[in-house]
Amino acid sequence: MTLVKEEPMLFPWIAKTKAEFLKERGLKKEDLINLGIGDVSYPLSKVVTEAIKDAADEMSTHVIGYGDECGLDELKEKVAATVYQDKICKDEVFITEGIANSLSHLMTLFKEGSTIGVLSPTYPVYKSLLKTHRMNIYEVESDDAFEFHPPDNAHLDAMIICSPNNPTGKAFAKESLSSWVRWANERGVTLLFDAAYECFIDDESPSSIYEIEGAKNCAIECVSFSKSMGFTGLRLGFFVFPKKLMTKGGLGLDFCKDLICSKTNGVSYVIQKAGLAALSPEGLKEREDKAAHYLKMTKTLKSYLQNAGETVVGGDHAPYLFWKVGGSSKEKFKSLLHEKCIVTVPGIGFGMEGYLRLSGFITDETLERVKKALCQG
Ligand code: PLP
Repeated sequence: MTLVKEEPMLFPWIAKTKAEFLKERGLKKEDLINLGIGDVSYPLSKVVTEAIKDAADEMSTHVIGYGDECGLDELKEKVAATVYQDKICKDEVFITEGIANSLSHLMTLFKEGSTIGVLSPTYPVYKSLLKTHRMNIYEVESDDAFEFHPPDNAHLDAMIICSPNNPTGKAFAKESLSSWVRWANERGVTLLFDAAYECFIDDESPSSIYEIEGAKNCAIECVSFSKSMGFTGLRLGFFVFPKKLMTKGGLGLDFCKDLICSKTNGVSYVIQKAGLAALSPEGLKEREDKAAHYLKMTKTLKSYLQNAGETVVGGDHAPYLFWKVGGSSKEKFKSLLHEKCIVTVPGIGFGMEGYLRLSGFITDETLERVKKALCQG
């Protein structure tokens, strides 16, 4: 475990490197094979867009003004029933515009200068978020198998855990998550559990931290409609703040309600109605089919690389692969771009050198292009 080091802004560097390459070769953006994508590749499902139209029509005939800052009752009830089989109560659910928004709200629970843990490698936005909220960052590095173990000697106020993790696509197993929950309860650490990719879990690994005994005493779970339902452009998610939870600073559910009411006047009515449709049986079936598609793309991509003798991890529980390339990940990024027109994300962006992240959020057509590029020289 180490204190975090400064990293250069990676995504502007990727954009600049791509633009220079396209100009130099006289190519168009569409000539590139984009495996760097952290977004969905298919449009919204009909059940969702119909719900948006209906809600807009409703608003043209009825006045629907401010709603409950914490979310529509109907949606909170649906989340409690559908996602948590009523093991969570609706008053513990807070509707937001997605996980970025949830985490930003939740930072208010911790005083400036608090120490918050992040995994390494993981989603880089956590570090930017913590820096902008003037928190101290503590990195918990993975072992060689990309597993994470609770740190013995750290004094943390909170710890952000991402499962399945981005960029490795690995989910925490039940025993591993249990050890984190025990550790957090013993030390009064609040776990901020990012479940952005829970819909992709393909085995008995927990898709919610509340499957673990004792988690309601220490964990706030953040869930998103972005990757599971294709809501990246609509913006919708929620977090669960259990009644039993108290932060180290003594803040609980009542404070959480006050903080949401002071920071927002709620999420758009139309988008919340779209969320309700996404949680209908038809919406859930689409979510299952899309998740299966993206995982199939990822696993096929993994097989292409493994058949070529490459070492690749992940892809089992989220549509991401972490490909061991050795050396500078930015240099490998450039050579893959120049030789195969393939765009990836250098591992350094996630805090780890020697790897590239590949995304399986792709269409069949893109997969076919990758196959040609990788397998036919
Ligand atoms: N959490 C992780 C781990 C992510 O990879 C992403 C997006 O890539 C997000 C959260 C962002 O989620 P949202 O769209 O709900 O803000």
